[in-house]
Amino acid sequence: MSQRRLTGVDFEALRRHIDVPDSAVRLLSKTEKEIDFDLNLVRDDGSLIEADCHLVYANTVRGPAKGGIRFAPGVTLEETRDLAERMVYKTALAGVPFGGGKAAIAMDPHSLTRFEKVAVMKEFVHMIDLELRSGSYIPAPDLGTTPHDMAVIYGQTHVPESVTGKPPSLGGLPGRREATGWGVCHATCRAAEQFLHATPQELTVAVQGFGNVGSYTCRFLAEQGARLVAVSDVSGGVAAEGGLDIAALLDHVSGGAPLADFAADAISNDELLALDADVLIPAAIENVLRGDNAARVAARLVVEAANGPTTTEADAVLADRGIVVVPDILANSGGVVASYVEWRKAKSGSLTEARETYAVIQSRIDIAFDQMIARAGQHRVPLRTACQLIAVEELVRSMRDRVWI
Ligand code: NAD
Repeated sequence: MSQRRLTGVDFEALRRHIDVPDSAVRLLSKTEKEIDFDLNLVRDDGSLIEADCHLVYANTVRGPAKGGIRFAPGVTLEETRDLAERMVYKTALAGVPFGGGKAAIAMDPHSLTRFEKVAVMKEFVHMIDLELRSGSYIPAPDLGTTPHDMAVIYGQTHVPESVTGKPPSLGGLPGRREATGWGVCHATCRAAEQFLHATPQELTVAVQGFGNVGSYTCRFLAEQGARLVAVSDVSGGVAAEGGLDIAALLDHVSGGAPLADFAADAISNDELLALDADVLIPAAIENVLRGDNAARVAARLVVEAANGPTTTEADAVLADRGIVVVPDILANSGGVVASYVEWRKAKSGSLTEARETYAVIQSRIDIAFDQMIARAGQHRVPLRTACQLIAVEELVRSMRDRVWI
């Protein structure tokens, strides 16, 4: 089993505070099931489309494996395991009846035409058809996949609840696209009130990443009155001390222009991470805050909108410096909460409006946030550990109920 080990959670550290049976540690330390396959298609000119693909079920004690499909060059089995594991704790913390899973297609989606991407998605469904039709794995968008890709999956399975993140015209959830950003915005406002004693209007914020999560986080925070002083994407960043015009920036990128060409001061991604703003929100990729740059972070609060943006080394440096980190499993849980609402809607055939989606996300994040603050105070631990304590207790309870332990 050693090749299937999960490594994200330090159970020995958690056991200083709560009772976690050996049997539960064993089950939570390895993946349940992994499927690896090659995806191959031939173009008309004879060239091959080839990708390594992975599907990981990390733990499904609380429900089917839920997690997005990452479509990006170089995505590995290790990375897929790590992301699946995060889903186990995220769903348990959010209190939704899902387990943790993740899928990956290791290829640059931008190297494909629209037609080719549809063909790849259909082939992907074909290769894991049983997992999807049985409802064992329920995908959603992640880096490099979109609601259109989810629509292609639905078109193959014909089962509305087999996939979430579909376009609203096909049974998708109004508000799903904005859901993660909405949740990040709400978690940021709660954390700013709690730790900085500041209202949104008093905040300066820097956001790395202007894709689905980053752009909606910026939009909602700007609507709350926060000053977005720097924003970046893979092309570079822009900054304005008085605050960027987020509506104009959204307009600019929606026309396909690189974000870095927006009329404002240029800033690199490295400079953005060290910018003197109240709040730093990494909303792009993993491991951007590391041992080598965490000492330069000037923000007082880091809200992890991306999955895994802070390495263990950086976590320790930030904690030493008194910088509060709101962990990804709480901060970006709006996406999976919305997925739960969409799944429930698909199963029941009911209709849901965007404001209901927002309300459910806000309520789940409020519950988890309050529990996190109470636990962090009770055990004198960082917020990440507090969230893990809550999630692990929930998972142990479910394992006992299912007679897994
Ligand atoms: P996306 O593909 O829509 O956007 C990614 C953004 O990151 C883009 O703006 C891209 O230019 C930028 N980026 C990529 N590489 C970069 C780099 N090296 N430096 C700076 N910026 C870079 O993806 P997304 O859906 O917004 O996801 C972002 C993160 O949030 C991922 O970690 C994802 O796993 C996580 N997440 C997403 C959701 C969701 O609902 N989409 C939910 C939970 C967590």
